[in-house]
Parts: sequence; structure tokens; C-alpha cells
Amino acid sequence: MSATTSTTSTRMDHMTWEDLDARVKTGVQGGPPIVILPTGALEQHGPHLPLGTDAMMPTMLAERVAAKIDGLVAPTLSYGYKSQPKSGGGNHMPGCAALDGNTYTLMVRDLICDFARHGLTRIVLFDGHMENQMFLTEASDLALRMLKAEGIEGTRIVKLGYWIMIDEPLEEMLFPEGLISWELEHAAVMETSAMMYLAPDLVRADKIPDHPPAEFPPYDVYPFDPHSVCHSGALSSAAGASPEKGKALVEALVPSLARQIAGAFGMECA
Ligand code: ZN
Ligand code: MN
Repeated sequence: MSATTSTTSTRMDHMTWEDLDARVKTGVQGGPPIVILPTGALEQHGPHLPLGTDAMMPTMLAERVAAKIDGLVAPTLSYGYKSQPKSGGGNHMPGCAALDGNTYTLMVRDLICDFARHGLTRIVLFDGHMENQMFLTEASDLALRMLKAEGIEGTRIVKLGYWIMIDEPLEEMLFPEGLISWELEHAAVMETSAMMYLAPDLVRADKIPDHPPAEFPPYDVYPFDPHSVCHSGALSSAAGASPEKGKALVEALVPSLARQIAGAFGMECA
């Protein structure tokens, strides 16, 4: 391996402490390099996609985004908050393993604090699993409070889902016959297309589900009755997925995510 690898690496876990420290001290556009923490889940994704889909998607996108902004990617938090029936099929399904909200919040809080303590004060929480969202907000709030008490100022945390830059043209490209709803897109056309492009060996193309969208009452019931719904684990059909759609999606998202993230820290993005 060449001696210059360390200076161009985006993966934090591949760097030595000295490489990392040098990157922080050298800085990027007047501050430390942006560190992106991909946050996902271990959650069933239908009969055709791997359990790690929500962790792999933000990880693979983060590596491409980080390369554009001279940023770093921290090891992915591959477990998340519990799958919910209406957005992920539900945590009762085989293969789901999740954290209680409090546990999850504190894990993220602790990581934010340690990044900041070592000078990585530009932090991105880059989410691939909708159910994590408000816990990421809470973790950010608690971390900032804790850092303030320690006298560490200037930390800025940006939270986003990788899907936020899916605009109308991309939506039309993915769903030429119309989108049913983003909540029911679990393990459906968008994720399946992206995975067919990014990790084709992990997609069971022969098992791509094609069935009507799952139906739910307008309210939530606890405990959830798994027999009250019937679906494959995908909440709507994935039959419209293709690797070409995945490629077009990824190629559109990466530069626009990089621009948004750089902009959120007042940085220019090439
Ligand atoms: Zn997903
Ligand atoms: Mn999910």
C-alpha cells in the first residue's frame, strides 16, 4: 500500500491516530474535516434485500460524498431504533435487532461528544432509517449540552436522511406511474434500485416482490398485532426497480448531498 493512502482515505477506521490528528490540524476550508456518521438499522427488507440495507445505503453514499468534500466517514452505526410496522414492517419480523430509544440516543450522544473532544467539531448524522430521526435530534441536543458543560464550543451537527435530495425529477424517474407514498417505499422501488446498483451481489433478483401496497389503519396500536397486516416485508411492490434507476439515483444524489452538507458548514464544494 502506498504511503500516501492515509492522506486521501475517507474511512476513519482505516487511519492511524496520527493520520487522523494531522487531518484535523491541517483542516479543510477553515475548520476540521467534516466527519460523517452513517446511521442505519438491522431490519428486514423483504425477501430480496439484505437486513443491512438501511446501514449499507448511507455508508456507500457517505463514502462517495466524503470524497467530494475532503471529509471522513466514521464507522457506521449499523443498529438503530426499532422498525415500525407502517414504515419498516415492524420489529417483530425475523432478523430485526434494534435498540431501545434511550440506548440508541445515548450511543449517538457519546460518539458526537468524542468526535468533538478530538477536534472533529463538524459532524454529520447521515441517516438511512427513518425511525432513528427524532433520536438523532435528541442525541444532538444532549451532546451539545454536555460539550458546553465541558467548555468545548463550536460544534455543529447536521442531521439528514440520504433521501432528502430526491426531488421531483428523480421521483418521476423512479416512479413513472406515480409514487404511492414514501412511507410505503420500504424495500420497494427506491431501495431495491439503489441496492441493485450499489451491491448487486446482495440482491435476490428472483425474489423481488410484486404485490399491492400494505394497508394500515390511520392510528397506531400497542401492542402491535402482526396478524393485522399481510405483506412480504416490502410495504409495496418493488417490481419497478432496476439497476439503471439505482445508478441514476446515486449519480444525482451524491453531488447534491455533498453540496448541501458542505453548504451547511459554510464550505464550498467542488
Ligand atoms: Zn430501508
Ligand atoms: Mn428502515
